[in-house]
Amino acid sequence: MGGGVAPERGFSYPRFADQPVGVPKTSILKSRIEPFYKPGQYDKVNLLANLYNARYSGKPHVRLYVWDAPGQERPTFEEATSKNFKETHVGASFGPSWSTHWFKVILTIPSDIADDELLELQWDANNEGMVWTADGMPLQGLTGGGERIEWVIPKSFRDGKEHTIYIEMACNGMFGNAPGGKTIIAPPDPNKYFRLSKADIVSVNVQARMLLFDMWELGDAARELPENSAEQNHALSVAMKIINTFQVDNQQSILKCRKIAQEIVGPDVDSHRVYEKGKDPVVFGVGNCHIDSCWLWPWDETKRKVARSWSSQCDLMDRYPEATFACSQAQQFKWLKQYYPAAYDRVRRKIEEGQFIPIGGSWVEHDTNMPSGESLVRQFFYGQRFFESEFGSRARTFWLPDTFGYSSQIPQLCRLAGMDRFMTQKLSWNNINNFPHTTFMWVSPDGSQVICHMPPSETYTAEADFGDLKRSISQHKTMQVDSSSLLLFGKGDGGGGPTWQQFEKLRRCAGISNTIGGIPKVKLGYTVDDFFDRLAPKAAEFPTWYGELYFELHRGTYTTQANNKYYNRKSEVMLRDIEQLATIASIKSKSYKYPTEEIDFMWESVLLCQFHDCLPGSSIEMCYDDSDKLYGKVFETGRKLLKELYDVFGVSDARSADSDKSSASAVLNTLPWHRKELVELSDVEVGVACGDGQVLPIRAFRIQQDKPAVTVHESSAEVFVLQNDQLRVVVKKGVITSLYDRVNDREIIEKGGEANKFVIFDDIPLYWQAWDVEVYHLGTRRQLKYGKTKIHEHKPHKVTLVTDITISENSSLKSYITLSASLDGQPSQVDCSAEVDWHEDCKFLKVEFPVDIVNTEASYETAYSITRRPTHYNTSWDMAKFEVCCHKFADLSEHNYGVSILNDSKYGFATAGKMMRLSLLRAPKAPDAHADMGRHEMRWAIFPHKGSLGSTTVKAAYAFNNPLKPCVVGGSGSAVDISSSLSRCPIKLINQDDSESLVLDTVKRGHDDEDVSTGGVRVSPGRSVIVRIYESLGGHSRGTIQTSFNVKRASKVNILEDELCEVAVKDSKIPIKLRPFEVATFKLEL
Ligand SMILES: [Zn+2]
Repeated sequence: MGGGVAPERGFSYPRFADQPVGVPKTSILKSRIEPFYKPGQYDKVNLLANLYNARYSGKPHVRLYVWDAPGQERPTFEEATSKNFKETHVGASFGPSWSTHWFKVILTIPSDIADDELLELQWDANNEGMVWTADGMPLQGLTGGGERIEWVIPKSFRDGKEHTIYIEMACNGMFGNAPGGKTIIAPPDPNKYFRLSKADIVSVNVQARMLLFDMWELGDAARELPENSAEQNHALSVAMKIINTFQVDNQQSILKCRKIAQEIVGPDVDSHRVYEKGKDPVVFGVGNCHIDSCWLWPWDETKRKVARSWSSQCDLMDRYPEATFACSQAQQFKWLKQYYPAAYDRVRRKIEEGQFIPIGGSWVEHDTNMPSGESLVRQFFYGQRFFESEFGSRARTFWLPDTFGYSSQIPQLCRLAGMDRFMTQKLSWNNINNFPHTTFMWVSPDGSQVICHMPPSETYTAEADFGDLKRSISQHKTMQVDSSSLLLFGKGDGGGGPTWQQFEKLRRCAGISNTIGGIPKVKLGYTVDDFFDRLAPKAAEFPTWYGELYFELHRGTYTTQANNKYYNRKSEVMLRDIEQLATIASIKSKSYKYPTEEIDFMWESVLLCQFHDCLPGSSIEMCYDDSDKLYGKVFETGRKLLKELYDVFGVSDARSADSDKSSASAVLNTLPWHRKELVELSDVEVGVACGDGQVLPIRAFRIQQDKPAVTVHESSAEVFVLQNDQLRVVVKKGVITSLYDRVNDREIIEKGGEANKFVIFDDIPLYWQAWDVEVYHLGTRRQLKYGKTKIHEHKPHKVTLVTDITISENSSLKSYITLSASLDGQPSQVDCSAEVDWHEDCKFLKVEFPVDIVNTEASYETAYSITRRPTHYNTSWDMAKFEVCCHKFADLSEHNYGVSILNDSKYGFATAGKMMRLSLLRAPKAPDAHADMGRHEMRWAIFPHKGSLGSTTVKAAYAFNNPLKPCVVGGSGSAVDISSSLSRCPIKLINQDDSESLVLDTVKRGHDDEDVSTGGVRVSPGRSVIVRIYESLGGHSRGTIQTSFNVKRASKVNILEDELCEVAVKDSKIPIKLRPFEVATFKLEL
């Protein structure tokens, strides 16, 4: 019989319900779930009461001894463990901020728990730590605040005897040392102390712990799936059954609950086999630990974060075979190799086993807005070479989850570095427009393409929650083509990457999709390449995105930390000079050895400083103390190399202390075209350098008394007129009111406009001070108080006005406006500079140029390209670009005339209508309380030109950044031969088109040449020269490489210097053709 209970007396038919049955309110049932497994009021009666079988703290089972490292020293294991340790205890505090404390921890496992399933040491001091074996093997990292506090005690410790481990404590949290109660980006508190709150041996009730995760995920299904779905209702009823079944302190009830949970999470969640079942993956879970190479802590702490995080991952890979871990930044691998060789070996084994996956192919996760084209090339060159020589293969995926916008040439450079995939997600932070694609084809201006994926969970440090999987579908924007996605999970910045808890959660999410569904199928065990491999067949169907991926946030990073940006530009220029001159020297001189090690050191240092929180200016003050020191070493090395090169060439620096200044007879030049420029040889002497080649002769600058080459006079009170043969500049009360092109009869300044005018804005972004400037700052534009203008210099070849300007009570600046004599056949420009004493709080200093030029787009030099951006605010996408990044110039042109603003160390610019604005200085107070305070010198130039933007601007901007270097020629013997051959220019690029758009940017030696190589994957016999040329204006262009070297064979190579194809050489000439904005590299074998 079925269908009811036995009839009661007096009734003749069966009854179904023997008591009233109602439908409880869903929201109340949902709210019942979390209190079952989360801390709160009911910890003694809920599941938490049964998580541990036993807990032992203090003596005799846990004995603690400590040695405090002095100051901010970070001693090695050997140094630290040789010291005298003194006894300490739980409850003691350690500090101050950034100090290191080593603990000797002597564990004696009580016999009561010796046979228990899982024993852990739980350690929490609310800061970062590393567990070491007694003999110096780093085992795993610890993160305080409950984040990562467990170390699994090995079976060998369960013999009742004493066992020793060491714990190295770093007095900083994951996010440095922000003062308590404040935002994490507040400048660090130097005096923080950390209390050791927990150092316990625990015996874990494994089934209770597993039930907690069962309940967490099926509870999330009950709470987060749509309420009108069968899956949600099913999960909710199972959750209720579990809570009803659980009895505190009753292990049998826990086992029963786990059985009930299987209805939702399935039977396989206790092992990685849960991933072997079910459908194809939709979500590919890959671990990562995004460690900023510096940010709210200095580089030295990063080195330890790397060791801690990656050791933790090696440990977890043993316990969770499904784990794969993607790890970028060759620099961090190199640090681990240098400072933690044992941990590095362990990582290397995990790489061989396929779980630990080097990715990204770059030296660091660098900024892509500000580094020069050549710097971007070297990020890949040094990154891929490191990966190849250490691990036998290169990366195929460029990995930049956190960088602040992506330069248009990245796809081309990726392809030239052997990478056809790109992963980022930062554009999900756009605070204006929602980027429209998840998976798409990103196209460079030369047509090169990479498949780009931005994980729809919109984070690269997911907690691996149920919601992350939901968002992997709900926020996926390209599902018409393919609905799969990456889920990048793991704690970043020293949090150590994925936690065991995250693996447990993901097993249950996979179990849920195997049983009731409702969330996309997640799988682990795949690599990022596996994910992209599956996308590749659909590549042609993905939506395309042409040009830069402009990031609609963090626009202040083009300006913050001006010194660091200045050093970046200067070191790029210096490296270019050194490589070019050293190449020639190493081929011309038998005794000169190409200084590979020093050049590599310089490049690796510059590349490190291009890290995405360093160059952008978003790190704490300590990081800039570090980078200042490193740049100091770069420049010192560079000066030494240049001195050696001068010796080889038989020249000496006319500006060096020991040289006879008046005897300068030539200049050193590294630009690949004819130059004719005024050169100041001393305070009183000036010459004209003219020619092409590396050494240009100087002739006297002829002064015609009756017809001065440049003049200045005060035409009326506070109105000065500066004039040369080409330009007439009127300066009234310190600003340029007229700039007249005498040759082309053209006024450049907007009627009534005031150019080279300094203005200041309030600069109070919504949150990220060092990072952001918001569009509303434009509404706070204020004029500065201009003092008297005076004639500062009045020389036959140059005149200069100076104006004192008051910025505020605390800050001031001196503005210089210079006009030099114009030279026949050479364009003229107005040179401007400023000395600023800057002590402001949340202000932004800019200099304005209202020009009488009309165009809806302005052009900006960017890495190996020109990027055009709107000058109007038609749409939200246009207006979002109210502040943009440029390199050596920004330009506003009509079809027949334009103005370029050149600079030698600035990166922020804006053009709105006819107003061009160069960004000079900001004053954020977080995370560096003193960012940019103090004295600055800066220079720029107003460069009017006939015609639209063309090679005259490109060349003028190069020249502005590469001043000719006066030198004294006077070597002997072979040196003279070499210097005379330099004036014939051993490698030349002849442009075949009138546009002259091909630029010979880099000359270096082949890195694998036997006399150059420092040992690597390959060493090639013979000598070669690498020549990098790019098309600078955006058109198909032709040219010829011409060389006096005896070229046996030539080939086109990629930026890693792998041969792509052989090219014809005839009479030492190589004809070339480039696509618009193509970056082409040639290898000349000698
Ligand atoms: Zn980052």
